[in-house]
Amino acid sequence: MTKYIFLTGGVVSSVGKGVTAAALGRLMKERGFRVSMQKLDPYINVDPGTMSPYQHGEVYVLDDGAETDLDLGHYERFIDTSLSRVCNVTTGQIYSEVIARERRGDFLGGTIQVIPHITNEIKHRIGLVPKATNAEIVLVEVGGTVGDIESLPFLEALRQMRSELGRENTAFIHVTWLPHIGATGELKTKPTQHSVAELRSRGISPDVIVARSDEPVTEDLRTKIALFCDVDPRGVIAVVTTPVLYEVPLLLEREGLGDYMTARLGLESRQAPDWTAWEQLVERSRQARPKVKIALVGKYVELQDAYMSVREAVRHASLAVGVDAEILWLHSAELEKGKGWEELRSAHGVIVPGGFGSRGIEGKIAAARYARTEKVPYLGLCLGMQLMCVEFARTFLQSEDANSTEFDRTTPHPVIDLLPEQRGIGNMGGTMRLGLYPCQLTPGTRAGSAYAQPMVEERHRHRFEFNNNYRDVLGEKGLVFSGMSPDGRLVEIAEIADHPFMVGSQFHPEFLSRPNRCHPLFRAFMEAVAKRAGVPTTSAPPSASTSRS
Ligand code: GLN
Repeated sequence: MTKYIFLTGGVVSSVGKGVTAAALGRLMKERGFRVSMQKLDPYINVDPGTMSPYQHGEVYVLDDGAETDLDLGHYERFIDTSLSRVCNVTTGQIYSEVIARERRGDFLGGTIQVIPHITNEIKHRIGLVPKATNAEIVLVEVGGTVGDIESLPFLEALRQMRSELGRENTAFIHVTWLPHIGATGELKTKPTQHSVAELRSRGISPDVIVARSDEPVTEDLRTKIALFCDVDPRGVIAVVTTPVLYEVPLLLEREGLGDYMTARLGLESRQAPDWTAWEQLVERSRQARPKVKIALVGKYVELQDAYMSVREAVRHASLAVGVDAEILWLHSAELEKGKGWEELRSAHGVIVPGGFGSRGIEGKIAAARYARTEKVPYLGLCLGMQLMCVEFARTFLQSEDANSTEFDRTTPHPVIDLLPEQRGIGNMGGTMRLGLYPCQLTPGTRAGSAYAQPMVEERHRHRFEFNNNYRDVLGEKGLVFSGMSPDGRLVEIAEIADHPFMVGSQFHPEFLSRPNRCHPLFRAFMEAVAKRAGVPTTSAPPSASTSRS
């Protein structure tokens, strides 16, 4: 029998419900259970793939090519298990399916209603997770906060699941926020009480309250929460804000959440959790390490969530090589106006991440030109790889008009062009080249040495590619194609020969970086950054940096 742990949020959003869910997933995995996770997103978009990063943050891509909510990135980083497209469900998907079936006549003339048709489809989607992932425990996080109109059908579906599957197979965790009143120096539980009351009015009684706060929670306050919210005192879990993200599983373990959940679901741990690697990771995060600066030249830099996995991959790599990387968030459109160059010049490395659309493109190309000519380590991620090639072409073909046809359809030098299979596609949702594809590495190149293996698989999300008509002419000038699709058709990695480290990948390596197993390309980049900064590196244990097994 599959066990389900449902997580809801109360009081305010952005208190780390996704991280809490992910960390609890780790607690259960450490006890020897097969764990999977699912996010239920109440918005009506079919997936976040077509949403602006300003609205939604990063679009996280899975092995199977699903474009998902960024919380799935937290899940994969914490539980270190590849998730499936069934692990992210939106209201848009639920309604599309039910309406398609209605049009086919599947409901035989019945009136289609939220209960039972929508709720049944939600329950069906939740039930797909253990089937697709072979999990014994499925953690299901509901997006938004309790009280949102959009989330009502999801809460109703979960309520039904509890009565259908029984209390012993389902647990509810409510993640709330305790505001701190500066004037009296107190933490307040009233908003938590109200949001639990709201949850109860939907027929759901939480088994656990995870109370997030910026200040430590006293014993008195715990008792009060237990009493007023009617939960077992052991079910009150206080999680104070920590600057070290990867400490959250340790905090939850210390609070006894893992043992409490195991007992609550009638399970017995198969093994004692081994937190050694996580403790080392946290200890390393706390240690003073030599500082280095990395400029991230993007266009959504006001909202760092838009580059969540890049930021985490930088963090993992800097821990692995023993430096403390500060990211300077630079807006590419500002660079175009001549602003931010001083900061760019102060950085020991440059990252140009993925992106779409023409705004700020010239600023990114200028950053690539600066990195190439000044020999500053550069890592290009998808668009960052394409623009590195555009810059190289502009210089060596002596034509500032060289471009990607994404930004200039009539460029005389379309160095980056639409993938042939993308021609004629009009529908924007879910139609890019998505998910895992193999990449064959050229030995002796920067990328080849970084991976130290002949073939890898990486996650993609793009419509454009390097135009093979330019391979010979730019190859002669020192653009190296160090990673190719096995059929030799598609350039997966390009690098500059005469440079300490200037590497761009058509895929997104950041999606496969894990806290205890940083990504080889980020690691190699970080080593070059440390060298540029003139600081020593101290390697983490070798197991912490091997590529994906
Ligand atoms: N816009 C580019 C393309 O579609 C790059 C995409 C990306 O950076 N993810 O190919």
